[in-house]
Amino acid sequence: MTDPPSWWWAQLGGLPEPRPPLEGDREADVCIVGAGYTGLWTALELRRADPSLDVVVLEREVAGFGASGRNGGWVLGEVSIGSRMRAAAGNGAVDALDRAAQQTVDEVSDACAREAIACDFFKGGSLTVAQTAPQLARLRTAARGEMLDAEQAAARVRIGGMRGARFTPNCARVQPAKLASGLAAAAERRGATIHERTPALALEPHAVRTPHGTVRARWVIRATEGYTAALPGLKRTLLPLWSSMIVTEPIDAATWEEIGWANRETIDDAAHVYCYLQRTADDRIAIGGRGRPYLFGSATDRDNGVPDATVRHLRARLTRLFPPLRDTAIAHAWAGVFGVSRDWAAAVHCDRQSGMCWAGGYAGEGVAAANLAARTLRDLVLGHDTELTHLPWVAHRARDWEPEPLRWLAVQAVYGGLRAADAIEDRTGRPSRLALAAAALSGR
Ligand SMILES: Cc1cc2nc3c(=O)[nH]c(=O)nc-3n(C[C@H](O)[C@H](O)[C@H](O)COP(=O)(O)OP(=O)(O)OC[C@H]3O[C@@H](n4cnc5c(N)ncnc54)[C@H](O)[C@@H]3O)c2cc1C
Repeated sequence: MTDPPSWWWAQLGGLPEPRPPLEGDREADVCIVGAGYTGLWTALELRRADPSLDVVVLEREVAGFGASGRNGGWVLGEVSIGSRMRAAAGNGAVDALDRAAQQTVDEVSDACAREAIACDFFKGGSLTVAQTAPQLARLRTAARGEMLDAEQAAARVRIGGMRGARFTPNCARVQPAKLASGLAAAAERRGATIHERTPALALEPHAVRTPHGTVRARWVIRATEGYTAALPGLKRTLLPLWSSMIVTEPIDAATWEEIGWANRETIDDAAHVYCYLQRTADDRIAIGGRGRPYLFGSATDRDNGVPDATVRHLRARLTRLFPPLRDTAIAHAWAGVFGVSRDWAAAVHCDRQSGMCWAGGYAGEGVAAANLAARTLRDLVLGHDTELTHLPWVAHRARDWEPEPLRWLAVQAVYGGLRAADAIEDRTGRPSRLALAAAALSGR
């Protein structure tokens, strides 16, 4: 067996035996490319709404091989909008998207209960913690959630040097690979067909070509998020950004007494290059951060692995947040890739004439957003005019990313700037303007 792509998969005994690949040409009503959360929720929702539809999912590896089996497990009630869409859509439309995103956390919970998907779902809300004065200042002006002073925050979780935190109830945690594999099984129970080890070579109006045959379908839905750049003609559509994670060995009860964190909120910090954490169902801590963010040429075919320096960096972040964990062993490290559009806005597209649809560009906030996108794709494909089909991310277009080497240079400059801003803020205790420059360059 090859190495599992994440500890989440390792916990399930590794990747499962692949489902049979496509064998020869076939017809379908809907052909979905990519069996991550976007593709699987879409298959499930379509079959639930119209059991007469023939829905086929093609997956290059196995379901949940991509970001959906590797992520931090935050089911966050937010969609990445970016400043450009925010300005263009206006407050009313942005509020509608915010509300829909918030409701999606409970929607995922209900759907998991209905479809018997056991994925350690727990809704404890989310805390963003400040460990420096500039971080605290940023939290005070943040738009969402309730501000907690140091004492109130410490009643929830004891973080080293915490100056305050912001709490929002709109977040849950899951075991990501359990959600992906449970979703695949649920989509099949609803009557969708999943072919694994079946790479799509080309997506065209009403046809998807693979080495094993062609699927002809009224609708072709691209659900390849971070891997999109590898498809013909789509090199500059979504930037593949990598994120790295480590997970500790289980932490003993006495140490948990010291740490608190009884309500299992997801936690991130207010650094510019932030890290994100969850307390797992078996009492470990999984923490992720930016590591090596980008491979030249938008490569996703090499596994980015996790360099020792990234493991050391994440470990240092963990110990800074939780000093009692300085000797806790790390069980596993892995990395994964997600998609970012040029203006950092996620989008859902469906062209009725060509039948070509896609959703993605969730910019690292794709767990809940993929469910919302899938329900939106369902309505668009079925031709239903609903609240979802009027949300501002529907048909939103961003321009392409720059060609190389500009793309690579820009990512290095943005993350170099953000890292330097964090270092300056740590040293001086004052906000750094470098972060503003980096944000402007990123187009966010
Ligand atoms: C380390 C990490 C941590 C993250 N943490 C969080 C988090 O805590 N909360 C959150 O909301 N978001 C998080 N994200 C983002 C989130 O995981 C993704 O946005 C989301 O899973 C995307 O789902 P998807 O189905 O669109 O794409 P994926 O899950 O990447 O699925 C795409 C699938 O398409 C397949 N594929 C690619 N090319 C082809 C082809 N040519 N033919 C057939 N199949 C193909 C791939 O094998 C893959 O299985 C994180 C991402 C990473 C990498």
